[in-house]
Amino acid sequence: MAITGECFCGSIKYQYDGKLKDGRSCHCSRCRKAFSSQASSYALVEPTEFRWLQGAELLTSFESMPDFGFQFCSRCGSTLCGIHKGQPHGITLGCVNGDPDIDIGYHLFVGSKAKWEVLPTGIISFDGAPPES
Ligand SMILES: [Zn+2]
Ligand SMILES: [Zn+2]
Repeated sequence: MAITGECFCGSIKYQYDGKLKDGRSCHCSRCRKAFSSQASSYALVEPTEFRWLQGAELLTSFESMPDFGFQFCSRCGSTLCGIHKGQPHGITLGCVNGDPDIDIGYHLFVGSKAKWEVLPTGIISFDGAPPES
């Protein structure tokens, strides 16, 4: 079943027809600011299965690294997706409607988490990047 998502103000909506992959949450200081939160919540998409349904003209992009950045709503500021070389790379799980049938599989960079964050117990976590990357 297709996954849909939208920003806080509802101006921008998307649909994803594929299966989300590699759900993760990064607790580094950069992700805290990019997601305005204690951590990111993010899963990877197949670019060809992703499309904007509405409001794509309201998207604003910010490239935080060469070839990689985020796209967000210029009205309400919700961060909707990550982009790599202009293609959708992943979606922010906070903007997904309903159950996208994926879990946060692991937490990375918990070694640099905010002092005020209390981590849940029972999670798979790494002080820095996960070993395979
Ligand atoms: Zn919006
Ligand atoms: Zn991060």
